[in-house]
Amino acid sequence: MAKKKHIAILGSTGSIGTQALEVIDHHPSLFEVEVLTANNNSELLIKQAIKYRPNCVVIANEKKYNEVSEALLNFNIKVFAGENSLEEVVEMEGIDVVLTSLVGYSGLKPTIAAIKKSKTIALANKETLVVAGKLISQLCLKHKATIFPVDSEHSAIFQCLTGEGHNSLEKIYLTASGGPFRGMSAPELANVTKKEALKHPNWNMGAKITIDSATLMNKGLEVIEAKWLFDLKEEQIEVVVHPQSIIHSAVQFEDGSIVAQLGLPDMKLPIQYALGFPNRIKNSFKRFSFMDYPSLTFEKPDLKTFKNLQLSFDAMKKGGNMPCVLNAANEVAVDAFLRDKISFLKMPDLIANCMEKITFVKNPSLEDYINSDTNTRSLAKKLL
Ligand code: MG
Repeated sequence: MAKKKHIAILGSTGSIGTQALEVIDHHPSLFEVEVLTANNNSELLIKQAIKYRPNCVVIANEKKYNEVSEALLNFNIKVFAGENSLEEVVEMEGIDVVLTSLVGYSGLKPTIAAIKKSKTIALANKETLVVAGKLISQLCLKHKATIFPVDSEHSAIFQCLTGEGHNSLEKIYLTASGGPFRGMSAPELANVTKKEALKHPNWNMGAKITIDSATLMNKGLEVIEAKWLFDLKEEQIEVVVHPQSIIHSAVQFEDGSIVAQLGLPDMKLPIQYALGFPNRIKNSFKRFSFMDYPSLTFEKPDLKTFKNLQLSFDAMKKGGNMPCVLNAANEVAVDAFLRDKISFLKMPDLIANCMEKITFVKNPSLEDYINSDTNTRSLAKKLL
């Protein structure tokens, strides 16, 4: 029997984190929870800690330290607070896999800390690779750390490539559901509400990524994520809108053969694949039936209406700190949209504006990324 894997879950109270714990629940002989962390949700973190008995927990919001540490006083669980603690706990000896399911830019520093300790990363935080893909790739090589994708599209590509290491890729097809507003024109999008944007047709996810799916920014971030994960040139990545979300993505080899990964949209599968790799683990998730989907359909993405996808391609082509600027501006834009401060169509305007105004850095260091992120955020807030 395989050795038990000891898992640290960064962001255990979010959508990916809770689904990862469901996966772990079903395979107690394969996985053990070592670390759980939450940003703000102390109540759920305490419940999870009492159930899974990790070695330690982190609550990023320091104001909630007392609440968490008092609740866990009798359980022999170490409690830390503050964002910096995330970087320390991932370095712990007993951790085999770090699942990074933090939201946005906040995933960058803890992921770097884990890579530097040669940990295996199950990456659910795509923004880390968007912001600093080149640096992360270099660090992984240097420290012999491996990243397994959790994003469903990238998991699909990874599954298609497993066992094909000696064969060259011609290109990948990254599928996109198109989100709740697929097919709508700009005038129709002008008045869409937060409530409508939060209703994703196929996937059940956190608020930030659901808005990103509605604007197609999620696909844009995934294009950049794919570039770094699979070492691709821009022209090797094609986005295909596939509203049923059954084909999770596909690869095309040099002989023209296309291999795709299919299944019902359920994040638990890519989470389980990343945690269990190289083994496929038997489960009882609902099975796909071809008869339930007599027609799978495909469309071109509408880059003129959904400008965020075009901006992402632009940022990727420009390189340097531009994807970092794109990401930071987007985080401010999404947050403002969720607080009813800007309209749906103002989001790409704000991002484009930041990409024009922030100083371009061709070969950024970590310091440059951090500065670009900070400067973009303050500019974006001023422009709101
Ligand atoms: Mg995805």
